Amino acid sequence: TASTSKALTIGLIPADGIGREVIPAARQVLEALPCDIMPSRLSFVDLDAGFEYFQKHGVALPEKTLEALKDSCDGALFGAVSSPSHKVAGYSSPIVGLRKKMDLYANVRPVISGAAATASGEKRAIDMLIIRENTECLYIKEEEQHEGPNGKYATAKRRISEFASRRAGEMAFSMALQRENMRQQVPLAERTWKARPKVTIVHKSNVLSVTDGLWRETVRSVYTGNSEYSSKIDIEEQLVDSMVYRMFREPEAFDVVVAPNMYGDIISDGAAALVGSLGLVPSANVGDNFVVGEPVHGSAPDIAGKNIANPIAAIRSAAMLLERTGYGSAALAIYRAVDKALESGQIKTPDLGGKATTTKVTEAVCKLL
Ligand code: ATP
Ligand code: MG
Repeated sequence: TASTSKALTIGLIPADGIGREVIPAARQVLEALPCDIMPSRLSFVDLDAGFEYFQKHGVALPEKTLEALKDSCDGALFGAVSSPSHKVAGYSSPIVGLRKKMDLYANVRPVISGAAATASGEKRAIDMLIIRENTECLYIKEEEQHEGPNGKYATAKRRISEFASRRAGEMAFSMALQRENMRQQVPLAERTWKARPKVTIVHKSNVLSVTDGLWRETVRSVYTGNSEYSSKIDIEEQLVDSMVYRMFREPEAFDVVVAPNMYGDIISDGAAALVGSLGLVPSANVGDNFVVGEPVHGSAPDIAGKNIANPIAAIRSAAMLLERTGYGSAALAIYRAVDKALESGQIKTPDLGGKATTTKVTEAVCKLL
């Protein structure tokens, strides 16, 4: 929880492309928070990383950046990194490195429609939080090619551990409560969600009974083993295929959704399509001791340097950082200011069909705060 005397130190890693425009925008919004809402002093540390940095210095995630994050930051905001179109010797993605080095084992993605119309033009109150386990599953990349009597074939290993499943489950249930606490501050008349928090466990244990069976059992045991969770949160299970179907039919039915790495990856991108532009969707890479907010979009070289990138994904990522570090009221104030700015319909960047600049949208959100 927040204490009034403490300062909150945030590392800023704009990295490449529009990261250099949207991260400063997010900082500007954080700085605009009135002090009755944000009781702690904010300080910022500018840090290097990215593909451009790699091209100049031969390293994408400098040791200096890691040290600064570990020694002096409570959390960080990451912009975006350009991915080279061909394999470059010695290069590996700095955000992947950051997740490993800081043990950010869950990727958290809210999918919020707010008052903005969805892609289909309907108004729906979508307010989901997808929690994706981010260290194992098929993405351990243990693939093999073989030669058989019928020609080549290939196999991939999929690892599901009790350890990783338990901490992903723990993250889902604790965040379900945390977000419920934050939402309690919203006036009754403006609430669009169900009365009780709910966690949906995604799996396919009818087919993958050993791996997904372990995932399912472990996440369930986190719930049954904690009386606070089992008294305050509802749970349900959803097979991943029917999850996709239901998510498109009835997205407003979901609250917190927790999934193994690969299902989570697919569900997250699908869900983003429900609420429109990539420029709106934030995420957070979360571990037990650190959080890195990161807009879902990439470096968007096609629009970089033009002051037309939508800063909202980065601004919402900054709010997620605040939420995770114990400043729920400040986070909520930002979410609501963004919703209001979107509702007004006046200040939209080109990706939303408007003509506003990054600067204009940022200023509008700051003013609403
Ligand atoms: P990268 O290699 O860094 O992923 P990319 O070319 O795949 O770059 P993305 O950032 O993934 O680019 O974006 C895909 C498309 O969405 C691009 O046309 C881009 O201009 C657009 N886009 C992405 N983010 C934003 C944003 N914040 N505001 C406006 N348009 C965006
Ligand atoms: Mg991309």
